[in-house]
Amino acid sequence: MKHMNRLEADVIIIGAGPSGAIAAAQLCKRGHKVAVLEKQHFPRFSIGESLLPQCMSFIESSGMLAAVEEAGFQFKNGAAFRLGNQYTEFEFTEKFTPGWGTTFQVQRGEFDHILAQQAEKAGADIYYGHEITAVKPGSDPTLTVLTEEGAQYTASAKFILDASGFGRVLPRLLDLETPSSFPVRKAIFTHIEDNIQTGLERNKILITVHPKYKDVWYWLIPFSNGRSSIGVVATPEFLDPLPGTSTEKLKQLCNEDPALKELLQSCHWDTKVQEICGYSCDVKSLWGEGFALLGNAGEFLDPVFSSGVTIAMKSASLAVPVLDKQLRGEAVCWENEYSVPLKQGVNTFRTFVEAWYDGRFQDVIFSKNQSKPIRDMISSILAGYAWDLKNPYVKDSERRLNVLVETCRQAI
Ligand code: FAD
Repeated sequence: MKHMNRLEADVIIIGAGPSGAIAAAQLCKRGHKVAVLEKQHFPRFSIGESLLPQCMSFIESSGMLAAVEEAGFQFKNGAAFRLGNQYTEFEFTEKFTPGWGTTFQVQRGEFDHILAQQAEKAGADIYYGHEITAVKPGSDPTLTVLTEEGAQYTASAKFILDASGFGRVLPRLLDLETPSSFPVRKAIFTHIEDNIQTGLERNKILITVHPKYKDVWYWLIPFSNGRSSIGVVATPEFLDPLPGTSTEKLKQLCNEDPALKELLQSCHWDTKVQEICGYSCDVKSLWGEGFALLGNAGEFLDPVFSSGVTIAMKSASLAVPVLDKQLRGEAVCWENEYSVPLKQGVNTFRTFVEAWYDGRFQDVIFSKNQSKPIRDMISSILAGYAWDLKNPYVKDSERRLNVLVETCRQAI
């Protein structure tokens, strides 16, 4: 590898995270030569451990289901929400849209590694420790690659898929960045040995709203090995002035919610606490001549509904058939066949994320007065089925949600 001075493939994928691995496997199955250039070595840490059932269909159609199921990850069948004394659980098997109703809570280092290994099994060549540093777009795009040994070489392909996540390689290099519709928020998080004996449904992510501030919330994502991912999300204006280190801030904020404090009373804080700020991002266009952006390299909304990996995999599954047609010489329209359908589901999530932070969605989920059919429609979206236009809360999400909010508020 040290002496490599040129690489050629039908498709070069930047990044071997979920969107890159799914795209690589699906393209290989369609007979294309795929090279994935990944700057890190796997397994590597990534945030985003709570999957949604919708993403299981992409794992399955990419031939990766058995490997994921055999890994022993924590089974997940829903999401639980708490605000003070109010508590509600969504069972993902009780949903409007047909399809997978269960999934997993995964340590992403291991999960992403499994997907990448499966992509290699399907025929993709993955080059670890290879970082993209420059690009020349166009009908025969080329990339400049820097290896960890310090060697530089050129990689060329008929098409480039940017799956570089928060690395946002092409958005940065091609000036595609545009501000997100969401304000800057920050997460402080870590993994703990949770030592939780009772009071936690380990099959579900627990989202707790801060007892005083409705736009401050915590995630608790239990794993199968007695450990959990814990994090808090708020604006930097709220978090930065708080006294203490990141660890002290996270512990203090967890202590401010009585139920969370009780759950975590015996936990062992044994892992470095990390922060990530300003993760919501967007681009002027999801594609251009010779390239398309997948997953977080395109738009990332917000962590609250765990939609990131599902959107990443959906983007790969939408891009592959378009690219396959193009590589076979057929005319394609990336805007209509990729960008528009992807954004439809992303925009559904956007509606619900906005309603989460202004409190409307919290009034809905904690309402005592809920009809089962409507709750199943909401459950579908929380399970990731944000592209099912048969669901009225997908097709007409803003208007429908607002009517529901009014109904729930009147009932209070
Ligand atoms: P990634 O998984 O980020 O993979 C990108 C890869 O590209 C990386 O391996 C990186 O090393 C590589 N790369 C970057 N730059 C270069 C370069 N120059 N050259 C070569 N390779 C490069 N999502 C969920 O589904 N569930 C959750 O519970 C969840 N929680 C979250 C909590 C927080 C606080 C945040 C910020 C996000 C969360 N997400 C969650 C989102 C989730 O992390 C991402 O949406 C998901 O990882 C995107 O996958 P991806 O394939 O697009 O990119």
